[in-house]
Amino acid sequence: MTAMTGALRTVDDDAPERCAFCPRDAVGPCASCRRLVCGECCTLTEGGVKTWAICLECDRKKGSRLGGAWGTLGAWLVALLVGLAAIVALLEWLWPS
Ligand SMILES: [Zn+2]
Ligand SMILES: [Zn+2]
Repeated sequence: MTAMTGALRTVDDDAPERCAFCPRDAVGPCASCRRLVCGECCTLTEGGVKTWAICLECDRKKGSRLGGAWGTLGAWLVALLVGLAAIVALLEWLWPS
């Protein structure tokens, strides 16, 4: 039995890379979590100039995470604008034209 387990492990190591979600051969890694996925278990996302393959799990999680990212981006933009306004006001106060 021990020998059989060892043999199985060796076969596992030599096996072609498998999809993380089904027994099919993987075609490439998920752009988000780097897990290997096959063509059936990923969705293609247009991200700028490149097309990304996103695994099913990341695709499911993407909605909320993307919303959170956009919210953070908006907050940063507001903070940036407020900061710029403060700097301009400070400069005006230090060196009135
Ligand atoms: Zn993923
Ligand atoms: Zn798959």
